[in-house]
Amino acid sequence: MLDYFDMESTLSEEERMLVDSARSFIDGEVEDIGQHWIDGTFPMDLIPKMGEMGFYAPNLEGYGLPGVSETAYGLLMRELEACDSGLRSMASVQGALVMYPIHAFGSDAQKEEWLPKLGTGEAVGCFGLTEPEHGSNPSAMETRAEADGDDYVLNGSKTWITNSPIADVAVVWAKDHTEEGTPVRGFLVETDRDGVTTNKIDEKLSLRASITGEISLQDVHVPAENVLPEVTGMKGPLSCLTQARYGIAWGAVGAAMDCFEVAREYATDREQFGKPIGGFQMQQQKLAEMATQITLAQLLAHRLADLKEAGEMRPQHVSMAKRNNVRTARDQSRIAREMLGGNGITADYSPMRHMTNMETVYTYEGTHDIHTLIIGEDLTGIPAYQ
Ligand code: FAD
Repeated sequence: MLDYFDMESTLSEEERMLVDSARSFIDGEVEDIGQHWIDGTFPMDLIPKMGEMGFYAPNLEGYGLPGVSETAYGLLMRELEACDSGLRSMASVQGALVMYPIHAFGSDAQKEEWLPKLGTGEAVGCFGLTEPEHGSNPSAMETRAEADGDDYVLNGSKTWITNSPIADVAVVWAKDHTEEGTPVRGFLVETDRDGVTTNKIDEKLSLRASITGEISLQDVHVPAENVLPEVTGMKGPLSCLTQARYGIAWGAVGAAMDCFEVAREYATDREQFGKPIGGFQMQQQKLAEMATQITLAQLLAHRLADLKEAGEMRPQHVSMAKRNNVRTARDQSRIAREMLGGNGITADYSPMRHMTNMETVYTYEGTHDIHTLIIGEDLTGIPAYQ
């Protein structure tokens, strides 16, 4: 895989081993991801296998979690997304959006109940923030919670929720109308509770090897023990998003690296006008630009990991890395597709699958535009959202 500036030489033994084991897992265990993408299915047998491999939140500690370095975690996301964004999304949601908030904001009982089984993949989680009318501006959410004796009653609907139709538990963000100012709180909602329905969203043209759905909540009673006790306000969901966006900044690099490898191999094999197409200047220019843009994205991801490890990473750093690296993967996957000619539009080759996946990755976890505004606000001190 492309490593033009020899970043692999900076990796620790543990990090290198993790890359190797992720690659051999994907080679040995992931059967025909292209077919899953065509069928719109997630390879369900991989959920416990990914758990066994320690792919869910390995950067956290305790409850059986190994606490690997942030670079190791990033490399894992990179390797998963080199296969398909659906695999990385599975690990991102389970780890960064479900296990992380329980780990950071949960009670001891919540941690003991959920972290071990989410870590092994025995249970699947999902993260319910987006609503039909509130995507980029989740602070305007309408989902409400009201105290009723020792319970809370939840009403509302969430949409575009990765894994909701296969989840055992949903982290649902809702406004607590019992309290003055209706602060946002996180609720652990088991999906078999009365009043919870999780319809699947079909006919996606992107991220097809990932299950996406809605969460409808109608007078759903949850005990007060299911509230995440250690956080109130938008800090809760936003801090989870920072973790997940970190993984995306790395993951997108993997998708772009895979596109590059496919394009380079194709360009050296495919002959037209009596020589490999990689021998023509225009194709070399495409490869040179692709390699350069991917290398820049790799360097940004590695630096982001160092900042995170040192406790110096700010959400705005993550916005810049997510924004840049996803744009790179989106642009370069299209160039790779183009270099494959007609073959490039088939599922036999990965670039067009990555290219369409990138439309989701460009949009979720803060759209490209929203990250532009976050960086703009950081640079000027002036918010331009409204
Ligand atoms: P909108 O917010 O309506 O935006 C539409 C367009 O307007 C975008 O181009 C946007 O950039 C632009 N725009 C909006 N506001 C501004 C502004 N102030 N200035 C300039 N431009 C603006 N959500 C979850 O909670 N959990 C999940 O697991 C999850 N998984 C997802 C999986 C998939 C496959 C997809 C597609 C989405 C998922 N999402 C999830 C939702 C995702 O985070 C939202 O789609 C995203 O935040 C954008 O919201 P929206 O789709 O409502 O678009």
